[in-house]
Amino acid sequence: MSDDRREVVLDVNELSKVNNGSEDDDGDDFLKPRELPKLLVDLKTYVDSKFCYHSGPIDDAAIIKVEPKTAYQCSMKILFETRKLRLVTQPYPWKSEKVLGSRSLGRFFENTEIEGEAVGNIWTDYSVPIPSADKHKETFALSESTSYSRCRRCRATCVVLCSKCEGDGKVRLNDAYNTKVRCNNCRGSGKMTCGSCNGLGGFRHVPTLTVKWFTRHTICFYQNSFLAERKIRKGQRTPIWLINRIEWSKVSSIEECMQNIPENTPDIPLRENIIRDYYEKQLNPTMNLDNVMRRLEFSIEQMNFQEVHYIMGEHFVNKRYPTMNHVFRFCQYPGQKRENSIYENDYPYNCCGCFGEKAACFAPCCVIL
Ligand SMILES: [Zn+2]
Ligand SMILES: [Zn+2]
Repeated sequence: MSDDRREVVLDVNELSKVNNGSEDDDGDDFLKPRELPKLLVDLKTYVDSKFCYHSGPIDDAAIIKVEPKTAYQCSMKILFETRKLRLVTQPYPWKSEKVLGSRSLGRFFENTEIEGEAVGNIWTDYSVPIPSADKHKETFALSESTSYSRCRRCRATCVVLCSKCEGDGKVRLNDAYNTKVRCNNCRGSGKMTCGSCNGLGGFRHVPTLTVKWFTRHTICFYQNSFLAERKIRKGQRTPIWLINRIEWSKVSSIEECMQNIPENTPDIPLRENIIRDYYEKQLNPTMNLDNVMRRLEFSIEQMNFQEVHYIMGEHFVNKRYPTMNHVFRFCQYPGQKRENSIYENDYPYNCCGCFGEKAACFAPCCVIL
């Protein structure tokens, strides 16, 4: 039995050598499996690795065309800055002036406010170095603009009348004799430490500038095929262009900056796409916000791959793209570990979506026959 088979195999080999792969081979297909092109073998391996997929139909498939395709991943990072001014007020000792040797008289005549230098324009009058990190926060005390004020409640006497005995030091008991006893609140003194200034008589007001930086990161994909963006993101890409952290503002010209972008793929207008996405995703949404752009970082990475079209026979119809009739497609791209990965979204035994993309259920509702 085994001898017979060996003989048959030998015969076929001889035949194919003699006929040089001519049409006559077709008659021998029932003797040995048709030799699938490498691309369809790869597709078969991929389909077999999926849960519930059925790779059988590939045996009768034929490749129609293989086209080289390109995808670009563009990363645009813009560092934004916001500035906010706050006034930090704390109780602070206030020394009342003396007039004719009297502090009481001094309190009557003195200025109750001591101004600091004007703060000015928080955007133009203070230069703050831009951090190297994508996100950062710093707070600066504008100490030259520190101002002081006297406590309005105690007028720098640091004490106020006791609220319980109203300065009397004694309170009346609610009894028949109207007895007066020492006030517990002020222990009989009639005065309390001023609660506003904590007994210090005044306040210090320090203007504080808080500068915050954050990064808006936009990743855009451009391609002349149908590869899923997550596949481009995970696949092997080659850097082709880079802008390494240049000074940037909302009035900087993106057109000028992108002038010398390499346009390697005629049907992907890279420059036009990038400029459009810059306006749509970075500039327009932030134009009216109270922040400034400080830094631009930009990179373009390219991925070359193949788009394969194959035909499956009359009883298979492309359900996802009905105009393609019996033709299906897949992409073969350099995956994470540099291997050739497959991406497809119209394989006929694919799932209708009930178990997610990795599972194709072999039920009549989903099967396209
Ligand atoms: Zn006070
Ligand atoms: Zn009291």
